Amino acid sequence: MISSFNGLIAQPGISFQISFTEPQAHYADVEMQISGNKSDFIDLKMPVWAPGSYLVREFAKNVEGFYAKGADNAPLKVQKLDKNTWRIATKGKEGIKAGYRVYAFEISVRTSFIDESHAFLSPTGIFMYVDGLINQPATVSINPHVDWKKISTGLDPVKGKKNTFYAENFDVLYDSPIEVGNQDVFEFEAAGVKHEVAMYGGGNYDKEKLSADMALIIETETDIFKENPNKRYVFIVHNFQNGGGGLEHLNSTVLGASRLGYKSEKSYKGFLGLVAHEYFHLWNVKRLRPQALGPFDYDTENYTTDLWIAEGFTAYYDNLMLRRAEFYSPEKYLEVLCEDIKVVENQPGSKIQPVSESSFDAWIKYYRPNENSKNSTISYYNKGALLGMILDLEILNATKAAKGLDDVMKAMYDEYYIRQKRGYTGDEFKAMAEKIAGISLDNFYRDYVHGTSPLNYNVHLGHAGLNLVNENAGSNVPSLGITASQKEGKLIVSSVTRGGSAWIGGLSVNDEIIAVDGYRVNGTTDALRTTDLDKIIASGKVGDKISVIISRDGLLKTIELTLTPDTNGKFRIEADKNATAEQLAVRKKWLKL
Ligand SMILES: [Zn+2]
Repeated sequence: MISSFNGLIAQPGISFQISFTEPQAHYADVEMQISGNKSDFIDLKMPVWAPGSYLVREFAKNVEGFYAKGADNAPLKVQKLDKNTWRIATKGKEGIKAGYRVYAFEISVRTSFIDESHAFLSPTGIFMYVDGLINQPATVSINPHVDWKKISTGLDPVKGKKNTFYAENFDVLYDSPIEVGNQDVFEFEAAGVKHEVAMYGGGNYDKEKLSADMALIIETETDIFKENPNKRYVFIVHNFQNGGGGLEHLNSTVLGASRLGYKSEKSYKGFLGLVAHEYFHLWNVKRLRPQALGPFDYDTENYTTDLWIAEGFTAYYDNLMLRRAEFYSPEKYLEVLCEDIKVVENQPGSKIQPVSESSFDAWIKYYRPNENSKNSTISYYNKGALLGMILDLEILNATKAAKGLDDVMKAMYDEYYIRQKRGYTGDEFKAMAEKIAGISLDNFYRDYVHGTSPLNYNVHLGHAGLNLVNENAGSNVPSLGITASQKEGKLIVSSVTRGGSAWIGGLSVNDEIIAVDGYRVNGTTDALRTTDLDKIIASGKVGDKISVIISRDGLLKTIELTLTPDTNGKFRIEADKNATAEQLAVRKKWLKL
């Protein structure tokens, strides 16, 4: 659709020139050239969010010094229409130049960062689009800072033009982050695709080991979908002192890692899990996607109830892929699975917020947590991963281990991405899963997706002859139901657990705990578990009444509390020794025994 242009346009050309005159001050200089304009005005817009990260980030807040001129360099009038829209009065000029600077100093996988060592350009916060021309192609020419030698991006280079790249439309441009600097680049081939790894920030990684391990994950994932849609794929890895997180793109990803984390078993597996997660997204969410997630509206929130599939199932598969590729033993995999179970079961919000609602409200809740989030929300990652597991087990059981969630994912990919070339609706996903399982999933959706019924682990794991054991079940350990942290020698309540002693008795976040039952509580020790408070609570029993002196906003107050049991579970999965042949067949297929 063409909205801003009144007349018909013969393929306007849009090109960007990016340079870095003051990288040390964290700026990118952007110049945009638009040719073939036939309209009296054009509107340039900066996206408000980065797909994959469901929060309005207001990237226009980093823009300054906007200008516009004609091809003859005569200035053109600019009017700001709203927070992220600049209207240029073009007076019918065919060639227009617009420019602006972007301040880039936020380290994350979805925001741009520039300093003298490198520039990471997260495209939705760098490139403006011409309203109505989002489907037009664009070229990007990068003029690196003098000391920078390399550019890593999933964009195709323009032949014969140095440091110039091509995007067939703005969806592709916005899905192609760019790393400019002196990154350590290595390549390997996997699943017939050329993979490039661009390491920024140094680190104790072993390129050969990493290439082999990443290739194994890539082959394992490609095996599910039986096709890898890319010819080339780029991993941009940011190594920091304490890095993490990742963001998926069409033919690239940005990963955060800890510089010295590659030699420790746990942190290395964590990195491989992140690789598995983001790579799995090139199918699940980038191509096989909920209807609302592409083509995107860059101007506002894009709502979907299906992030429990797009993110949650990806989170289920990341560890499962590490199991299938033999990075985890079956026992270790079940242990890792218990981590998700722990998060969901120990979070009171799982009884309040259905996972479909958690997805829809990601913009205002998941990405904007507060002190009460654990009481009122559940993550569509953790619970979605468990629903992936449950659905997998249900399908394996219903088909006598002939089919599983893999078959649903592949069938959905083939039907909606390849054949129909569109996103799926929630009903379409359910229908496909039911078709493959050969059973109704009405209860699964009613109870687990749109409801908050407890997950009946032992029914589902039972299909594989496995049992979930809560080692803390029935324990009567007394608890206050708070977390507290130490600030300037004071012990301050940082969260209150729904239904616990503090919740019922009226202790609040930000209260300073001064004394309990006549004992002064000293907040100056290092670890909370060693504080006097914990010792006092541990020496009581459930049902005991205690008297807590607090300071709230500078006023002293005494609160009477009754100790409640600590309800946090500790979980393990154990095998049923008397499992039937059918159960063993499911277990074998699921855990690749
Ligand atoms: Zn993800």
